[in-house]
Amino acid sequence: MTTLFLAALLSALFVPFVSAQPLLCAEAHLHYNWNQAEVTSPDEACSNLYANDVALAVVSSTPLELPVSLREAGGDQVLPFFRPYARPGDWLTWTRDESVPDIMREAPESGRYFGIGELNPIPGFGQRWDTPIFRKVNDLAKRHRMPVRIHTESSAPDFFMDICRRHPEARFLSADGGGILQPDVGARTMSARRNV
Ligand SMILES: [Zn+2]
Repeated sequence: MTTLFLAALLSALFVPFVSAQPLLCAEAHLHYNWNQAEVTSPDEACSNLYANDVALAVVSSTPLELPVSLREAGGDQVLPFFRPYARPGDWLTWTRDESVPDIMREAPESGRYFGIGELNPIPGFGQRWDTPIFRKVNDLAKRHRMPVRIHTESSAPDFFMDICRRHPEARFLSADGGGILQPDVGARTMSARRNV
C-alpha cells in the first residue's frame, strides 16, 4: 500500500514537470553534403534540427566547408567536423593520398572545426588504415585535442578497436554504433578502450 501511495505521489509530482520540459538531445552523426544542400538551405536544416529538440549537432560534409555554413546559420550548437574526403569517392583512397595531411592541417588552424571525421573504415574494400597518411591525421587530431569520429560499418567492432588500440592518445567517437552492432557489443567496445 505504501509503495502504491508513493508511486502515485511521485507520478503526480513529476509528470507535469517532465512533460513541460522538452527532452533535448545531441545528434553526434549528421551529414550536410552537396546533394542535401541543393534541396535544404542551412537555415531550413537548422530550423528542422531545433524544432526536433536537437540541442547539439555534430556535422561533417563533402564539400568540406558545408558544415561551416550550417554553424553560421544555426549558431554555437552546430559543431563542424573536418573529414579528409574533399571529393565524393575519396573515402576509399584517402589513406594513400599524399595531399591529405596538408589539406587537413588547415582545418584546426582555421578555428572553424571541432573534430575530424567522419572516417569510414568498411572491411572488404581494401582500405589501408596502417598508412603514414592515416597516422599523420591522427597525430593532427591529438595535437589539437580534437576527437576523431569513425563510422562503424561491420557486424563486429574488431576493425574499429584495432584503430583505437594503434592510436591510444587519440580520442574516438563511434558513429552508427547502434546500427549494425547490437547494444551489448557496442557497450563492450566503449568499455574496452578508454579513448572511445
Ligand atoms: Zn555517416
